[in-house]
Amino acid sequence: AKELGRNTFHFYTEELTRAAGRRLAMETRLRRAIEHREFVLYFQPQVSVADGRTIGVEALVRWNDKEKGLVGPDEFIPVAEESGLIAPLGLWVLKEACRQLQVWRHRGLALPQVAVNFSSQQFLLQDVTARVSEALELSGLPPEFLELEITESLLMRQGDSAPAMLRSLKDLGVRLVIDDFGIGYSSLAYLREFPIDRLKIDQSFVRDIETDHSAREIASTVVAMGHNLSLEVLAEGVENVRQLEILKMLECDAYQGFFASAPLPAEDLPGWLAAWPSPSGR
Ligand code: C2E
Ligand code: CA
Ligand code: CA
Ligand code: CA
Repeated sequence: AKELGRNTFHFYTEELTRAAGRRLAMETRLRRAIEHREFVLYFQPQVSVADGRTIGVEALVRWNDKEKGLVGPDEFIPVAEESGLIAPLGLWVLKEACRQLQVWRHRGLALPQVAVNFSSQQFLLQDVTARVSEALELSGLPPEFLELEITESLLMRQGDSAPAMLRSLKDLGVRLVIDDFGIGYSSLAYLREFPIDRLKIDQSFVRDIETDHSAREIASTVVAMGHNLSLEVLAEGVENVRQLEILKMLECDAYQGFFASAPLPAEDLPGWLAAWPSPSGR
């Protein structure tokens, strides 16, 4: 038994060392990727539930790795957050999203806004208000075209400083959105004090909305509460027409998901817009 214990211990330390090694290797590659700008933004359309009008796009980052090809954010954002690399990466995402929307606006595309994801770590590492202000100035994008997606956990972690922080962002004229609403620590009491424009119902509720009574009730409650507080409500992860019909019944304002479109590379967005049957169609 003693032998076994020692071997098990040995096994664990080896595993841990390997995991730490992999993490470090990833961090090194990520650092290099940021220097060499190996990232691309994909854009997922956001659509009005009532008439199918396109109301904006969400920017979602991908790593275009020479060996692995396109790598999704779930694989590298956590490492970027732990290592602090989220600061330069997030800055690139912000500037690139603003730049791209300006290009589309100058080409006459009807795109009212671009949404950019912010992780709470970014707020700890940098003066986000100053960075956002710079990005707007650099691109010339009017602030009301930029939407910042933050999570409930960010609001909780910032504690007492959260209202002032959000207020200073809001004073720039940008729009503020709470992402993944309903799965984090609930911030219902705070919703009153925060200058929020929109709630995004987490896709886990939408996924089960046809079959699970409680998922549907939660979605319904978020829409009603949001509207009572004069907030817009968007549902994410809509994959089929039945989910959309239920959201229409609940009077949800907008949605995004594979049913409208998967996230697209920038060059594909104008074609998608031209083909999308709005506002009469869906
Ligand atoms: P998120 O902000 O909740 O983004 C929604 C995710 O759901 C995206 O995954 C999107 O591709 C995916 N999705 C969209 N429609 C559907 C659908 O109909 N069904 C299903 N099953 N999934 C759908 P993605 O692009 O892999 O991004 C994952 C997460 O990575 C994002 O979740 C966000 O938290 C984070 N992320 C992405 N880009 C950035 C960024 O630039 N900065 C930061 N800090 N985080 C980012
Ligand atoms: Ca998001
Ligand atoms: Ca989300
Ligand atoms: Ca998410």
